[in-house]
Amino acid sequence: MLDFLGDLKRSHMCGALRPSDAGKKAVLMGWVNRRRDLGSIIFIDLRDRTGVTQVVFNRELNPKAHDKANHLRNEYVIAVIGTVKRRDADTINKNIPTGEVELMVDEIRLLNESKQPPFLPSETVLPNEEMRLKYRYIDLRREPMQFNIEMRHKVSKAIRDYLSAEGFFEIETPFMTRSTPEGARDYLVPSRVQPGSFYALPQSPQMFKQILMISGFDKYFQIVRCFRDEDFRADRQAEFTQIDLEMTYPQQQTVWNVVEGFLTAAFKAAGHEIKTPFPRMSYDEAIRRYGNDKPDLRLPAMIDAREALTPEEWDDLATKFRMRKEFLLQLIRIPKAGDISGTERRTIGTYGAYQHVQGPSFVQLMTDPKRFAKDYPWLSDKILSFAAIEPDDLWLLAGAATRPENAAVMDQSIQHFCEKCGFLRLDLAQKYAAKHKAFEKTGDTARDFRFLWVSDFPMFEWDKTEKRWNPAHHPFTSLHEEDMAKLEANIDSVHDPKSPLGEIRALAYDVVLNGTELGSGSIRIHRQDIQRKIFQALGMSDEEARARFGFFLEALEYGTPPHGGIALGLDRIVMILAGAESLREVIPFPKTARAVDLMVDAPTPVSEAQLKELGIQVRKVSGD
Ligand code: ASP
Repeated sequence: MLDFLGDLKRSHMCGALRPSDAGKKAVLMGWVNRRRDLGSIIFIDLRDRTGVTQVVFNRELNPKAHDKANHLRNEYVIAVIGTVKRRDADTINKNIPTGEVELMVDEIRLLNESKQPPFLPSETVLPNEEMRLKYRYIDLRREPMQFNIEMRHKVSKAIRDYLSAEGFFEIETPFMTRSTPEGARDYLVPSRVQPGSFYALPQSPQMFKQILMISGFDKYFQIVRCFRDEDFRADRQAEFTQIDLEMTYPQQQTVWNVVEGFLTAAFKAAGHEIKTPFPRMSYDEAIRRYGNDKPDLRLPAMIDAREALTPEEWDDLATKFRMRKEFLLQLIRIPKAGDISGTERRTIGTYGAYQHVQGPSFVQLMTDPKRFAKDYPWLSDKILSFAAIEPDDLWLLAGAATRPENAAVMDQSIQHFCEKCGFLRLDLAQKYAAKHKAFEKTGDTARDFRFLWVSDFPMFEWDKTEKRWNPAHHPFTSLHEEDMAKLEANIDSVHDPKSPLGEIRALAYDVVLNGTELGSGSIRIHRQDIQRKIFQALGMSDEEARARFGFFLEALEYGTPPHGGIALGLDRIVMILAGAESLREVIPFPKTARAVDLMVDAPTPVSEAQLKELGIQVRKVSGD
């Protein structure tokens, strides 16, 4: 005996009523969150997006409504008409904003029933994630999910408002298009009308946004879905959302200002103030001082011990460590690691524990300044004060021999060593500094937002598997003007690992937050002659370039203005702002790591008839 809604109108949301509403009539609609039956009185917590209100059915005052309330179960949908009443002092619930009032019901309408859900939105203990994803509509009813999705809306809106006010137009670009090279596999969509031909879903709107600059739109943005078929990587989604933008006549700084502006607005929408301008650092410096290209500034940089010493002291140290003078020594400091047990010390100190860190020839744990002072009396003070080491800190020295015979090899081995030290630094920080809140995972609630611009990335990176140079960003990225001659001199060396192509710097930049890359962008190549050279340097013949990017090369020939842009991951930004642990917590309908949507059960095989229409025959892949 379900009721119709009829022309009944909701007067308040379930999170709205306050003591000042006492005495008023109210009509609430929502889900039965909880039901407590005390015999002559039944309490219902009625829930919607905004909160819960206690609703009271009193048998004496209203036997008909009370009788109906007897049949209510979790997640039934009801409308209640009643009078707002202040609660007695001893029944006030301080944990909810509506906790000082309750609604005394005159009439109830049962709008819908619910099967017993596999888990309840009101429960704090979560079922496994598979269950949550399969019954996503129940999961999304939970308060934390409602919070995350609301946060997502607020953040997107703040970004849209900011960019619109700055003169950017939001312009849509096609989903059914052709391949955009962003380094992943494409998702393909077969064409029925042209059997054997496929659209590719965009890995990004890169070429379209550049074409929009050629088309005179000056400033473009889009909060847009991108599709990348990547092998399993934790915390990636096959389809994800980017804040994508492009503008004409920019310097790098112009793009950075826009990004700092919209991030300030987005963080403000989530209740946080951030400081601008963000610090900046070259890629080289990031590698040298942090051992990776997305430094986490909440931890101190590593210190090249050579910086603390005179050349004589350095020689002396080299002799003591029985190393060549050219050896490398990095000091890694993890602040406030606090007490570390003897066993833990032994584990850290044992190089064996870090076999996966193959760069350093040795790792020496120096947690005990007294012992260190005894072994290296002249070095001790210098290093301790240079690195500002405090008694509570964990610190260690990592050293490596270098092979100075050849500058290029030397550079690579320094980079390799620094990267390994950087890995060690983060590993130790996660284990030890985390205990003391000096270092927290991105998802944690301590809101120490340390942004950074990293620039001057290498233009090309060596692909060990394919044995060739590939674009480090994408092939439309401009290089530094001064490096043009180097490009021309080495234009045919795509398969030479020692090629100076590796030294060419791009006008590419990343925005980083607490050790996480939020987005990348670049100043683009706007001249067709240079774009062709880049394709040539990448080993692409003219015919191949024409076949893949002909339309784009042609467009570049029609008065293309200098332009540049960037794209940032919206999902990740929302995840950080919501304090969530995974992207799946901030995407309403996410996919699993295997790119499966458990709710709708996609992907699925399709019917023979559909395949036939598309001219497609499915082959059995061995191992299936
Ligand atoms: N298209 C690039 C990406 O998706 C971003 C950009 O260069 O603007 O990573």
